[in-house]
Amino acid sequence: MSDAPAIKPKPLGPVPGGYGAENGQLTIGGETAAALVERAGRTPLFVYSRNMLEERMAKLRAAMPQRIKINYAIKANSFQPVLLAMSNLVDGLDIASGGELDMIRAVGTDPGRVSFAGPGKRDAELEAAIAAGVTLNLESENEAERALAIAARLGQTPCLAVRINPDFEIKGSGMKMSGGPKPFGVDADRVPALVRHIVGAGCDFRGMHIFSGSQALDAEALVEAQANTLVLADRIASEAGLALPKLNMGGGFGIPYFPGDTPLDIGRVGAALEERFAELPDTLAGAELFIELGRYLVGEAGVYLTRIVDRKVSHGETFLVTDGGLHHQLAASGNFGQVVRRNYPLAIADRFDAAPEEIVNVVGCLCTPLDRLADRAHLPCAEVGDLVAVFCAGAYGASASPSAFLGQGPAAELLV
Ligand SMILES: *Cc1c(COP(=O)(O)O)cnc(C)c1O
Repeated sequence: MSDAPAIKPKPLGPVPGGYGAENGQLTIGGETAAALVERAGRTPLFVYSRNMLEERMAKLRAAMPQRIKINYAIKANSFQPVLLAMSNLVDGLDIASGGELDMIRAVGTDPGRVSFAGPGKRDAELEAAIAAGVTLNLESENEAERALAIAARLGQTPCLAVRINPDFEIKGSGMKMSGGPKPFGVDADRVPALVRHIVGAGCDFRGMHIFSGSQALDAEALVEAQANTLVLADRIASEAGLALPKLNMGGGFGIPYFPGDTPLDIGRVGAALEERFAELPDTLAGAELFIELGRYLVGEAGVYLTRIVDRKVSHGETFLVTDGGLHHQLAASGNFGQVVRRNYPLAIADRFDAAPEEIVNVVGCLCTPLDRLADRAHLPCAEVGDLVAVFCAGAYGASASPSAFLGQGPAAELLV
């Protein structure tokens, strides 16, 4: 129909369930995107749905064994209203810095149900955590010594667990955080000695933490990693000569971000865990058992809304230029751990139920070619002033993007 070179569309990731349309507009929690932007007063805007957070937790609890406790890793999304909502829904919170300790205190979470993992904890962070009664997941022998010395100086009994660097990882998981040389945890063969040492020093021993990967969509891979986790925990506890009061089995539950991704079968994961729990060894039989999740709990409940400020053509390709970008959505731009850039789920919020008509590139407002939100997306025809919605924005969006870059500043955030 035109002389423009034929451009092949690149698929978009799957839009998560739970979103609606009203007069053609995307709705989140029953309100249109335009109404939400008006409420926030500006774009770009992250909108999170309380209803979707609650539904996700309810479904997860129904699929998991009753015995399992669920922690929320707050680095996925620490927007205060979300943090408060999550704190009320889950059994415990996982933090990874002194800054996150301040955040959980600000929402009034009991520090007794908080654990603190992460390499490179500074003395001031150890001290604040010990004084508050937060459990430290120790990442090294050195950290153990510093924690014991600080606790002695404070005259307090520290709550200590040991994070293990397991000798396996979740197959095909998104981000490698275990298996081989790693900055996380203590190598499995050195853990029994460390456990005996900290128990001998009089700590309040809180068991072990084994995190073997992230963003897994394959239930069988997760089932296998969880089985390996229980075997490893039993082996180490037996070598250390004690039963574990707690075991944090890690997480790794993924969500579909990209074309072809399919949701994790949590029913399968829960059923396999139920079987394992029926035959736990003595070292684990009395343990409180935890999983810790970030993106699975909050990722699909968030949308990033950004407004189109320009529409231009270059060498036959159309560019929709928005007022948002990688400074809020680093992962959607393809620059947060991805090897090959693929498109997140994205839509024109003002024409949510319209048929696709044209192939366009959606970019951000930053002066760098890295700032892309969708390549060659097949979308309804959009005008300047329309809103673009990027889905799966509830985790590692605002909390994991360089919002100070180019003086842009943070996006607005809203929990509805
Ligand atoms: C980041 C992190 C999590 C959460 O990861 P998700 O992929 O968001 O579920 C859980 N545990 C630890 C130790 C982490 O570092």
